[in-house]
Amino acid sequence: MRKPIIAGNWKMYKTFDEAVEFVEAVRDAIPTEDKIDAVICAPALYLPTLVDVATETDLAIGAQNMHFENEGAFTGEVSPAQLAAINVDYVILGHSERREMFNETDEAVNKKVRAALNHGIVPIICCGETLEEREAGHTEAKVSKQIRAALQGFTAEEVAHMVIAYEPIWAIGTGKTATADDANETCGSIRNVVAELFGQETADAIRIQYGGSVKPENIQELLAKEHIDGALVGGASLDTTSYLKLLEAGANA
Ligand code: PGA
Repeated sequence: MRKPIIAGNWKMYKTFDEAVEFVEAVRDAIPTEDKIDAVICAPALYLPTLVDVATETDLAIGAQNMHFENEGAFTGEVSPAQLAAINVDYVILGHSERREMFNETDEAVNKKVRAALNHGIVPIICCGETLEEREAGHTEAKVSKQIRAALQGFTAEEVAHMVIAYEPIWAIGTGKTATADDANETCGSIRNVVAELFGQETADAIRIQYGGSVKPENIQELLAKEHIDGALVGGASLDTTSYLKLLEAGANA
């Protein structure tokens, strides 16, 4: 039985004060870590403070991106070593917004996954198709290519502890969710790719989230599906009540 993982992706939202208030408000209301992994992925600027505010609670803090090099002349970037030094637990890698707007390639995502593992940070590896790709029947081929590239060069043991987020690009921030059956089918196809590359045991262990307009109203149906082990949530993770409802649904899934 895979433990559900619900991760909020705040993107470029919230001021510093709002971010701290949010974590102070939810940190003691998180369902126990035995039932669910609860994560907030916040803007890099707030991470050291939020890690502090969430210390000794069941809330984990994650980053939304990082470079793959430990240090160097990369103006404006944040390194895996810097994140590890402040005890960040997770990092979202290869989000479609980064792939589309910041030219992040499959190759860069693969290097970032390696860098995350080298520093004990759990990667949340994103994949997903555009509307055109879905309509042309290319969903499986697209996510399979992204996942094969991201997981290249890892051992089965390493892959078992990673998290994959399947996020159809047309469902992100649009209010359109993939049907629970469609989401499950694609998450199942991702699990098959992992089984083919690393064996069934690894495929059974890796957690695969769905993302794209997940809300308290639709999360239960999604989590009831065999291959959906959690959610990566943008808009609905910005409000404390809604975030806690998502966690509750996850803890009871
Ligand atoms: P959304 O964003 O929940 O607002 O659709 C999801 C994401 O981009 O991770």
